[in-house]
Amino acid sequence: EAKRAGGARHLVFETAMRERAARRADIEAELRLAIEQEQLFVVYQPVVGLLSDGRTDHGAGVEALVRWRHPTRGIVPPVDFITVAEECGLIGPVGDFVLERSCRDFMDWQARLGPAAPRLVAVNLSRAQLGQPGWVDTVHAILCATGMPPGQLQLEVTESLAAQDLDIQQRLHELKALGVKLALDDFGTGYSSLSSLHLLPVDTVKIDRSFVSQADTSNHHRVLIEATVKVAQSLGMLTVAEGIETQSQADVVRAQFCAKGQGYFYSRPLAPDALLDWLASHAAPTA
Ligand code: C2E
Ligand code: MG
Ligand code: MG
Ligand code: MG
Repeated sequence: EAKRAGGARHLVFETAMRERAARRADIEAELRLAIEQEQLFVVYQPVVGLLSDGRTDHGAGVEALVRWRHPTRGIVPPVDFITVAEECGLIGPVGDFVLERSCRDFMDWQARLGPAAPRLVAVNLSRAQLGQPGWVDTVHAILCATGMPPGQLQLEVTESLAAQDLDIQQRLHELKALGVKLALDDFGTGYSSLSSLHLLPVDTVKIDRSFVSQADTSNHHRVLIEATVKVAQSLGMLTVAEGIETQSQADVVRAQFCAKGQGYFYSRPLAPDALLDWLASHAAPTA
């Protein structure tokens, strides 16, 4: 009896595994097609400067976030395809597309808006991209082909990715040598800690939304934000508070001297046209 139940469980497990593998294979095939048929696109979320006089600088920068316009499933968010892309060797073409698109859009804003254009564009990287031999040369080639000023491109790596991996650290130093900015994304969620921040050649630390969302309700989270800002500052790094959704969260991170903020409170990620409208409606720094 027990054996039969175990066998049944085993069968259920196998079936679930097979279904999962089949679904992965489907997504993989569809993603190959998506790249060919240009179903991927990029939206941009504003990153604002939290000025010390209390004003907000709306031209500080934007973060590029990839989306997939799926023929039947609608708009697919990156959590539903980036991991698959990494596992099946498609992150190269996906990542290169996002990087090139972001640089081209940045140059377009520059040409159209001049000094009113966002001063920085941030692009997310995954581990698999950084591990690819020759990838730093690809970045260099995209910078040259688009005319993108390296100092206005920020590449974002997650904390778990960068900590304790000497290969990755070497790659980050090579990227720094191109003149691009580096940011440590989702800080506070991974293994590394404040004490290992100095090991990484990053210019910016992005404090994860899980801390910022409780900045105004939890003393514990507020203290962690305060400590992160202080340590980052002492290492010459800037801090960005991610996922600000309310005025009171904005007030708290500003009071902790966080240099920049990002979140739905300021703006959701926007298509390029909508971004231009948003910038136009926030032309001067506001209180
Ligand atoms: P991330 O780099 O930490 O990006 C911030 C994410 O938080 C975005 O989700 C953004 O839409 C969301 N967000 C921003 N403000 C708020 C807020 O106030 N509240 C809430 N609830 N969410 C907010 P998205 O676009 O779904 O991207 C998720 C993650 O996918 C990104 O996290 C990044 O790690 C990854 N990703 C996005 N685009 C790319 C890409 O082109 N390449 C790679 N490798 N990863 C990407
Ligand atoms: Mg990011
Ligand atoms: Mg992040
Ligand atoms: Mg995050």
